[in-house]
Amino acid sequence: PKIIVAIDGYSSCGKSTTAKLVAKQLNYPYIDTGAMYRAVTLYFIQNHISLTNPKEVETALNQIQITFRRHPELGRNDTYLNGLNIEDEIRKMYVSEKVSEVSAIAEVRHALVAQQQRMGRVKGIVMDGRDIGTVVFPNAELKIFMTADPMIRAQRRQLELIEKGDLVGIQEILENLRLRDHIDTTRAESPLRQAEDAVFIDNSLMTLDEQVEMVVRLADA
Ligand code: C5P
Repeated sequence: PKIIVAIDGYSSCGKSTTAKLVAKQLNYPYIDTGAMYRAVTLYFIQNHISLTNPKEVETALNQIQITFRRHPELGRNDTYLNGLNIEDEIRKMYVSEKVSEVSAIAEVRHALVAQQQRMGRVKGIVMDGRDIGTVVFPNAELKIFMTADPMIRAQRRQLELIEKGDLVGIQEILENLRLRDHIDTTRAESPLRQAEDAVFIDNSLMTLDEQVEMVVRLADA
């Protein structure tokens, strides 16, 4: 039977990379909910939306349409905002610096959680984020909570950015991760926490293959 696989955890701990490969092996669609929060953040930045003005936030949310489409050559699942491919833009530092602040807004979360729940109506899905096992799909058959040593996470993120030609110092990345983790775990609206029935994985010393294999094995069990 097809199941929902919910993968939550701290920033840059390899959730998305693992989730993507797990989805491929299980032949399920994969939804990157962080990309959805990043897309909203990009829209808010581009349109100078005041985060403290609920009316403005609400109006903006009604004008945002987020979709995912397979890239014809790269084979990756790209994020679209109102019909425009924003996959590369939302990974940049200036978006990472604002995203946790935007994600803490209750109205933003309500809108995105509703969309995520609609996406999960068709069983057989891998979704990763911060609140998938606790809020979006509290009844998910498999919940994973991932983490890794902060320095290792920062080094992995730095490599990713370098591959895209974005040279960012390790200290700046480390500070961004710490700040996002802090905001994500302390916000009033669905803070990041491990669901009681989640399997905890610290992947600091694990290879990507090992992580994928472990999650696939749990999904098959
Ligand atoms: O997963 P990623 O690092 O791209 O997520 C970016 C940010 O989006 C997180 O730091 C967090 O603030 C927010 N987020 C969230 N809930 C989710 C997914 C992401 O609050 N389900």
